[in-house]
Amino acid sequence: MARYVYDFAQGGRDMAGLLGGKGSNLAEMTRLGLPVPPGFVITTEACRAFLATGGEPEGMWQEVSEHLTTVETAAGRLLGQPADPLLLSVRSGARFSMPGMMETILDIGLNDDSVLGLAKVSGSERFAWDSYRRLIQMFGSTVMGVDPALFERAIALLKDLRGAPDDVHLDTADLAQLVETYKNIIHLETGEHFPQSPAEQLRRAVLAVFQSWNGERARLYRRREHIPDDLGTAVTVQCMVFGNLGPDSGSGVAFTRDPATGRPGLYGDYLPNAQGEDVVAGIRNTVPLAELGRLDPHSYARLCEHMRTLERHYRDLCDIEFTIERGRLWMLQTRVGKRTAEAAFAIAAELADEGLITPDESLARVSGEGLARLMFPRFDTSAVGDPLAHGLPASPGAAVGAAVFDSAVAVRRAAAGENVVLVRQETTPDDLPGMIAAQAVLTSRGGKTSHAAVVARGMGKVCVCGAEELSVDIEARRFTAPDGTVVEEGTVISVDGSTGAVYPGPVPLVDSAVMRFLESGAGEEGSASAVDAVARALARADTVRRLEVRANADTPEDAARARRFGAQGIGLCRTEHMFLGERRKLVEEMILAGTDGARDRALAALLPLQREDFSGILEAMDGLPVTIRLLDPPLHEFLPDRTELAVRIAAAEARGDLPAAHDVELLSAVNRMHEENPMLGLRGVRLGLVVPGLVAMQVRAIGEAVAERTRAGCSPRAEIMVPLVGDVRELRIVREEVERVLDEVSAASGVPVSCPVGTMIELPRAALTADRIAAEAEFFSFGTNDLTQTTWGFSRDDVEAEFFSAYLDKGVFPVSPFETLDRDGVGRLVRMAVAEGRATRPDLKIGVCGEHGGDPDSVHFFHAAGLDYVSCSPFRVPVARLEAGRAAL
Ligand code: PEP
Ligand code: MG
Repeated sequence: MARYVYDFAQGGRDMAGLLGGKGSNLAEMTRLGLPVPPGFVITTEACRAFLATGGEPEGMWQEVSEHLTTVETAAGRLLGQPADPLLLSVRSGARFSMPGMMETILDIGLNDDSVLGLAKVSGSERFAWDSYRRLIQMFGSTVMGVDPALFERAIALLKDLRGAPDDVHLDTADLAQLVETYKNIIHLETGEHFPQSPAEQLRRAVLAVFQSWNGERARLYRRREHIPDDLGTAVTVQCMVFGNLGPDSGSGVAFTRDPATGRPGLYGDYLPNAQGEDVVAGIRNTVPLAELGRLDPHSYARLCEHMRTLERHYRDLCDIEFTIERGRLWMLQTRVGKRTAEAAFAIAAELADEGLITPDESLARVSGEGLARLMFPRFDTSAVGDPLAHGLPASPGAAVGAAVFDSAVAVRRAAAGENVVLVRQETTPDDLPGMIAAQAVLTSRGGKTSHAAVVARGMGKVCVCGAEELSVDIEARRFTAPDGTVVEEGTVISVDGSTGAVYPGPVPLVDSAVMRFLESGAGEEGSASAVDAVARALARADTVRRLEVRANADTPEDAARARRFGAQGIGLCRTEHMFLGERRKLVEEMILAGTDGARDRALAALLPLQREDFSGILEAMDGLPVTIRLLDPPLHEFLPDRTELAVRIAAAEARGDLPAAHDVELLSAVNRMHEENPMLGLRGVRLGLVVPGLVAMQVRAIGEAVAERTRAGCSPRAEIMVPLVGDVRELRIVREEVERVLDEVSAASGVPVSCPVGTMIELPRAALTADRIAAEAEFFSFGTNDLTQTTWGFSRDDVEAEFFSAYLDKGVFPVSPFETLDRDGVGRLVRMAVAEGRATRPDLKIGVCGEHGGDPDSVHFFHAAGLDYVSCSPFRVPVARLEAGRAAL
C-alpha cells in the first residue's frame, strides 16, 4: 500500500516530487541538525488521489494520527490540550514554489478551552485571543468558504467603534468579542459551527489545502509559469512557534546573497514581535536584517551560522524564513532562492570562483531567458528631472505605463493594448492577474521579500516596493508624491526596478550594459559583475556546445550585428524582403508581363539590385556560410489590393469616366491570382516552377555576387536553399536550373562558382519523404513555422490571436506550438527526417531556421535530435549560444 505521510526526519531534498519543495527542504534542514519545529508531510500522491476521487485515500488518516502522536511526544504536549495546547500550522507546498497561491492555516488546535490555556502558558491573554481570532478567520474563509470580506468588515467596524487606527490597538476584550462575532458569521453563513475539535480542524484544513491546488489563482500562476496541472501539492503539518510573543520575539526572511544583484553577504528583512505572515504580506514595514544583530546578537549569530551551513550544503543561494520565539531561533523554511537574471549570472560565476560548483554547473545555473532579460534597454535618466519617489529596487528593468490602482483595471486596460503600472499599497495573491497584465508593480509598503517583490522577481517583472514616500489612495485612484505631485489613474509613469526610482511621464530608454557588451565585445564600468558573468557563461557555452548558431538576416546591417553577437553564418536570408519598397513596381511588371520579352526586361532590371544585396551580405559574413533562400511568398502579395482596385474602377465608372486601362489590367491579373488559402498556394518552389526566369535571375545574382567577391580576394560561402519542397522532383528541377546558371556564371566570369543546394523541410510530406529528398539536397533546414502550421493545420497568421488563449486555458498545450516546438508531433517529423535524410546522405548538414531556433526549450530539442545548427533572429543569437551550451551539458 502506498505510504502517504513522512516525518521530517524521514525525508530529504531529493524527495521534492513527493514531499513538495517546502516539505523536502524542511526534512533536509532537520537532517542537517538545524532547529526546525517538529512536523510531518502528507505527500503529493495523497493530494492527487484526493483530487481524482474527491475523498482522502484509504489509510491516510491512520498514518496522520500516528505521525501526530510522534510529534506530540516530541513536543511533550497534545494537540489542543486545554491546559497547554500544542498548535499546528498546515501549509501547502508543491514541487515548484507557488508563493502565496495556495492556502495556509495557522494555529490549528485552538478552541474555547485551549485559548484559555494558551493565555496562561504564554502569559499573554491578548496574544491568545488574537491567535484564536486569526484561526477562525483563516479557517472560516479557507475551509468553510465564508467570504473573507465579512470578517474584514467586522474587524474594521470594531476598530471604528474603538477609534483604533490598527489591529494592535484592539485589547483582549475586543478580540474576545471579535471571536464571538466571527463564530456568528460562520454560523449564519454556513449553518455550521466553527469546529471545536482539534482533530476535525486538522483534517478539514488538510483537505482544504489539497483543494486549493485547483483554486483560480493557483491555476493562473501555473499557466503563467508553465507548471503542469497534475502534480498536486504536499501538505506540511508542523508545530507552531510564535514570533509575536513580545519584543524578544520576531520573524524574518533572509537570503544568503542579495537576490537582486547577486552580491555576497546576508541580506533580508526582520519584523520584531510579528508572525511570518506579517513579513511576507508587507503589511508593516520591516527593518534590515543587520538590525537583528543589535536587537538579539545571539540569535543573529546562530542565524548567520545556519545560513552559511545551508549555502555550503545546497551550493547555491538559499532563502529562509525564520522565527524567534522568546530568544529562541527556529528555521521555518528554506529553498534555493529565486533571483533576478543579473543575480543568477553573478552568483553562478562567484560560486564557481569559490570552488563550490564546477564551470559546467555554473553554466547550468543561468538561462537564455535570463540573458534575454539582461539585453533589454534601461532608462536614460540624463535628460529627465528628479524622480517622484524612491522605493526598494525589488526586481530590475525599466517599465513605462499608465498608473492603475487595481488588478481588474490593469487587466482591462492591458487587454486594450495599453501599457500599465499596477500601483498598490501592498499586493496579495488576488492581485496576480493584474501583476501579470502590468509592465511593472509599484507598492508603497513592504520589503524586498514582500509578496509583490517575490512574485514579480519570479516572473521577471519590474517591481519597486516599499515606496513609503508615496501616499497611495486606492479609493480615490491616485497617489501623491512628497513634492505634492498627484498622479491620477491613467497618468503615465516610469518605474526603474534596478534603482527603485519612480519618475513622472515616460523616460527614454538606452541599451543595457550587457547589450553594449554583446554589440561591442567590451565591458562597461559600474556593471562589471553582470557583464563579466555573462561573458564567462557565453565563453563556457561556446566551448561545450555542439550546435552551431547562425542568424536569420536579410540585410548587411543585420548580418554584421549577428556576427558581432557571435553568429557563425546566416541560416536564412529571406529574399522576398528584398522585393519590397521601390522594387515592388518591377516585380509587378514581371508578374503582369504579357510577353517573354517584357518579363525578361523586368527580371533584368531586378538582377543588379539582387546582386548588390547578396554582395553586401556576403561581405558582412565573409568566410562564413550564407544560406540564401529563393523567393517564397505568394505573388499576389506584390500586387495592389483587390478591393481597392475594384473600388477605384467602380468610382471612375460611377463618375461616367473610363477607368484607367492599367487599373483594369491590374484587376484582372489580381483576380486571376487570387487564392482562398495563399499560405497553401503559389508559394516557394512552386513559384520557381511556374514563373519562367525567376529562379535563374536569383541564382545569377547570387553567382555573380560570389564571383565578384572572390575576385576581390574574399571568401564568399553562399548556399542556395529551396523553400516549400514537398517532393524530390520539385527540388531536382530547380537544382538542375541552379547548376546550369552557375556554370554560365563561371564561364562568363572566369571564376569557378559552385554553391551547395539544399532544401527547407517545412511540409509534412517533405519530412515523410526525406530519404528521397536527401538524394538531391546537400543540406536540410527545418522551416518549423510552416511545419507547425501544416502539421497542426493551424494558420500561423490567425490562430494565436483567435483561440489559443482558450487552448492554453483548457490545457491542450502549455505554450503555443509556434513558440516552443511541439516535440510529440512536429518534433517526431523532425527526428524522422533527420534519420532518413542521413541514411541517404551521411554528411547531410541539417539546421533549423523557424522561430524555434531561438527558443530555449526548442534549442535543447534540436541538440538532442542531432541537428548541426540553429538559426534565429540576430538578437536571439546570444540566447541560442547559451542554450546550445547548456543543452550539451
Ligand atoms: C519557416 O517556415 O519556418 C520559415 C523559416 O520560413 P518562413 O517563416 O519564411 O515561412
Ligand atoms: Mg516557411
